[in-house]
Amino acid sequence: MIRQIAIALSLFASAAAAEAPPITIVIHGGAGALEPGRYTPSEEEAYKAKLSEALDAGYAVLEKGGMALDAVEAAILIMEDSPLFNAGKGAVFTHDGKNELDVAIMDGRTKAAGAATGLTHVKNPIRLARAIMEKSPHVMMVGEGAEEFAKTQGLDFVKPSYFRTETRWRQYKDALKAEKDAAEAKKESGLPHDFKYGTVGAVALDHEGNLAAGTSTGGMTLKRYGRVGDAPIIGAGTYADNNSCAVSATGWGEYFIRLTIARDICAQVEYAGKTVAEATTDVIHNRLQKSGGDGGVIVLAPNGDFVLDFNSAGMFRGVKQGERKEIAIYRE
Ligand code: ASP
Repeated sequence: MIRQIAIALSLFASAAAAEAPPITIVIHGGAGALEPGRYTPSEEEAYKAKLSEALDAGYAVLEKGGMALDAVEAAILIMEDSPLFNAGKGAVFTHDGKNELDVAIMDGRTKAAGAATGLTHVKNPIRLARAIMEKSPHVMMVGEGAEEFAKTQGLDFVKPSYFRTETRWRQYKDALKAEKDAAEAKKESGLPHDFKYGTVGAVALDHEGNLAAGTSTGGMTLKRYGRVGDAPIIGAGTYADNNSCAVSATGWGEYFIRLTIARDICAQVEYAGKTVAEATTDVIHNRLQKSGGDGGVIVLAPNGDFVLDFNSAGMFRGVKQGERKEIAIYRE
């Protein structure tokens, strides 16, 4: 009898080992009015090369047996340092011509989370989010206080001008002009969609079956009055729970906050027993669509199922899982 149980257990263990979920990293570099032809072939190549580098950095961590959290951080660091994306260097400008950064990270194993908003000097916001999660008793910190804490953690500081790129400055000037023209024409909003997006995010699944999610952004061009987007709000732009899924979002933050997009996807998985694909379709193509918002999400399940979906024209995105590596910008 004992022997039979032992055999049964070992069969069970080997079945489980055979089905161990595959280590996976999924990333995005922002959703928006990304129609084919929006970028030149060489610009597209530059974006794809950077997405590829971020995927490889995250995947390398997982391959060495590292944690999902470390993979998420490694991938986001590469995109924060790149001027191509609206996070870290290359962040968009506020109405006052400043860069104010928002960030969050979440550990699906413990549901611990760290987030910060309104950062102006922290070179890599994702490192600060991680430090808030692991080295403070809090979840979220704002502006000066967050940066004071960052100093105690020995994080890299830069002058605000570090974040500026000429491309973003030109977009800012164009957005200001569009706003002025719209006001003169008494139109509601002069903001074309492509001034709104470009956030970066990552979700990962590690050898131990743990999930993690992170999101980092400069927010939306011309944001004012200390506006905070969805990225740093746990449950809106970022969420991870081993019992359901990990999500990082990008898009029109106000809608993502009101609809608690990230948590809604995970809740539908957890409470309604939906797959991540079913839950994401409902949230993005039904709820978000009907509300008038737009953007996209990357979603990863504990079994390795993943989704990269959006209701905008395109989304910079990529996934690496075993031999599979895919990178795309437009709807294909
Ligand atoms: N969701 C971000 C925000 O509203 C912007 C983006 O994803 O591009 O701040």
